[in-house]
Amino acid sequence: MRRLRNVKIVATLGPASNDYEMIRKLHEAGADVFRLNMSHGDHSEIKARHEIIRQVEKDLDSPIAILADLQGPKLRVGTFANGEEELVEGAAFRMDLDEAEGDESRVRLPHPEIFAALEVGAHLLVNDGKIRLEVTACGADFADCVVIAGGTISNRKGVNVPDVVLPLAALSDKDRADLEFVCQLGVDWLALSFVQRAEDVNEARELAQGRAAILSKIEKPAAVKAFNEILEVSDGIMVARGDLGVELPVQNVPPIQKQLIRKCRAAAKPVIVATQMLESMIESPMPTRAEVSDVATAIYEGTDAIMLSAESAAGSYPIEAVTTMNNVAIEVEDDPTYQEIIEASRTANRTTVADGIVAAAREIAETTDVKAICCFTQSGTTALLTARERPRVPIIALTPLVGTARRLCLSWGTNVFLTGGDVERFKMAVVGAARAARMMGLAEEADQIVVTAGVPFNVTGSTNILRVAPCEERLIFRTDPE
Ligand code: PGA
Ligand code: MN
Repeated sequence: MRRLRNVKIVATLGPASNDYEMIRKLHEAGADVFRLNMSHGDHSEIKARHEIIRQVEKDLDSPIAILADLQGPKLRVGTFANGEEELVEGAAFRMDLDEAEGDESRVRLPHPEIFAALEVGAHLLVNDGKIRLEVTACGADFADCVVIAGGTISNRKGVNVPDVVLPLAALSDKDRADLEFVCQLGVDWLALSFVQRAEDVNEARELAQGRAAILSKIEKPAAVKAFNEILEVSDGIMVARGDLGVELPVQNVPPIQKQLIRKCRAAAKPVIVATQMLESMIESPMPTRAEVSDVATAIYEGTDAIMLSAESAAGSYPIEAVTTMNNVAIEVEDDPTYQEIIEASRTANRTTVADGIVAAAREIAETTDVKAICCFTQSGTTALLTARERPRVPIIALTPLVGTARRLCLSWGTNVFLTGGDVERFKMAVVGAARAARMMGLAEEADQIVVTAGVPFNVTGSTNILRVAPCEERLIFRTDPE
């Protein structure tokens, strides 16, 4: 699908967006990436959604990225004899391993590894942080707490433990089963929840065995601390503001969002800003002004993608939510201030030939009348480096690999084009790029494009050629070297 913006839109699928018609409309309205949330829905539902997306992709001849989001080690309390209890500020409350049902004084927390890691003074947050408990004494099988902020605690509510790095396996048994299932389905990206350290990412990568790219969700203080190492071993990042705003004071989230976006761009790895972007649109066809401003801010900060969660998965206005994001993006990117901010925040840490070539491609495109930067890419790296430059003209990534094409759908400003077979001669590559640019409506016969490639072809990381080429085939044949 031809888009009139560079930032990408990720839409989570769910009960409100289950059928072919809706998924197709969401893609047409602007969703470039679909997220399958493994915390909800069984394997047959996930498989059905996956098949529909691939059908839409085929029918519209438009590559789509699918991101499977693994639930991760989400901690939950046990059950209560009465189903729920009211915790009041100042009261004592115990979490333990006792299998008996809970009451107003205690509940089971079936995770011995938490008790092993807890320290006096640590906080336990229940129900998205609405209830706060502080540990006053603890042992191998219990934690005595005082209620700092009270509220209703009910069966199987989620627990966050922000203050300690938990010796939890990054992937639960469910996650491992889900990971294998979605890799076999053929998803493009795997999102890892509650990543705490780089080893968590490596563990998932070993299991994925190259079948999907790995995106780390930053939603724990430990992940913010270890961010540089986590980024190093990840293919992409999600600023998961929902849990992050529970685990850290909520006012810490905006500065973290800014820093993470900058670091991801410097590393040429795609970053998604997620959660509550258009929250009110779950129930209303109109966003609040503050939400529009939040979406705009993420775009001004240079994020690769913005995400919808319940707005598209369970809300009443999924299409309107995507359309709102699309419209905000077009407006922001049209603002000269956006260009200024993006240029001013370009960090040049150029060490390779490819770094130099993509920078040169952008400069040429900006100093002369060139309609697109076309890059031939196998692994996608050259396209990612080109996107990091945030050029003012469209990027066309040409690849023979459908997996690469799909993964790049998450990346800022990247239009993907599947080349029929392996290109072997540079002249034919230029012809192919010109045809792609014309077919995509990004250039006409009389226009010029920039083409970058690595010769010999089909070797990853070999970008070494830059050519300014005409789009008219007769001229390409006349002017191009072999
Ligand atoms: P979730 O992740 O929706 O899977 O919780 C995103 C977030 O925490 O913001
Ligand atoms: Mn989360």
